[in-house]
Amino acid sequence: MRDAPGNFNLLHRTCSLVVLLCLLHISVTVIYYMRNSDLRQTFVQNQQSPQIHRKLAEQRVTTEESPQRLPSVSNVTETERKLETCPDNPPRLVGPLRVEFSDPVTLDLVRSENPVLQPGGRFKPTECIAQQKVAIIIPFRHRDEHLKYWLYYLHPILQRQQLDYGIYVINQDGEDTFNRAKLLNIGYAEALKEYDYDCFVFSDVDLIPMDDRNFYKCYNQPRHLSVSMDKFGFRYFWSLLTVVSCRGLMVYFQPPDSIYLYFYGSACFHRVSSKGMSISRPDGVIGRCRMIRHDRDKQNDPNPQRFDRIAHTRETMASDGISSLTYNVVNIEKDQLFTKITVDVGKP
Ligand code: UDP
Ligand code: MN
Repeated sequence: MRDAPGNFNLLHRTCSLVVLLCLLHISVTVIYYMRNSDLRQTFVQNQQSPQIHRKLAEQRVTTEESPQRLPSVSNVTETERKLETCPDNPPRLVGPLRVEFSDPVTLDLVRSENPVLQPGGRFKPTECIAQQKVAIIIPFRHRDEHLKYWLYYLHPILQRQQLDYGIYVINQDGEDTFNRAKLLNIGYAEALKEYDYDCFVFSDVDLIPMDDRNFYKCYNQPRHLSVSMDKFGFRYFWSLLTVVSCRGLMVYFQPPDSIYLYFYGSACFHRVSSKGMSISRPDGVIGRCRMIRHDRDKQNDPNPQRFDRIAHTRETMASDGISSLTYNVVNIEKDQLFTKITVDVGKP
């Protein structure tokens, strides 16, 4: 009987602890919910179609470029000399974007919506001098449907980001096993032959950013742009998978660090860390991306040797990079929207 108050005390404490834990849980949930609803509001505000964004953007450009702000010098070189470097926060960015793949898109539509592009999918802002010259490299084979959406969404975003950029679609010739890593390296080498790019972005053709504040440019460290993917329900836990493997990727390296070849997602991580670098990322909201759903392609099965290769990255990376790259260019096509380089990558 003397134990009864003791038992009661224990029970009392346990209950208090449980109540406390519940409260803690509820407050965490509420905070998380509120942060998300903030996001939803911004998202709803930006629920206009990309065309409307563009129209708005164009209107803003015309107001910004009102005559009194333009240099009143007739001499072109004089005007050029007066241009300043583009700002860190380009004025025409709109933030969260609506990205969907239900309406069909044609290349002609994308061409007509991007009249300012130079052949090869090249662009450079006229109102300021771009901070970086960015080559965007897309590994490619039989994904024309995805490429249309990619171009449709990305061109306007990259222009709003005021980048001096070019789009390189590196198309693997033939039907042998798809070699994404090699295509990226080829893209790097081929782009450098055309222009003195100082930044390289590698993007899958089926990955679209959902916020134009996610810059396709270089930072001090290699950057992983596709931080949180709709494919994983944007859930942090699953996004971690994306983060650890640099999945979907879009990392860049500034030369001379580009001397690398990444066979598989995780190998990129080894390469980066073994050079004493770390990976920089946008936050989980700005870094949201949408991935076009698709079946696995023929000749693109996961490589059975991938774990072995990743394990040996440190030993092999010095010799399997750009320096050992061999391939044959089969064709170069200059479209208004992209440069498509068809290459024979040789046997795997
Ligand atoms: N890819 C391609 N054709 C293929 C296989 C892959 O163009 O037959 C390119 C494309 O850019 C794609 C990327 O390689 O986005 C990654 O391949 P996949 O989409 O199959 O990988 P996952 O969806 O598993 O990330
Ligand atoms: Mn994919």
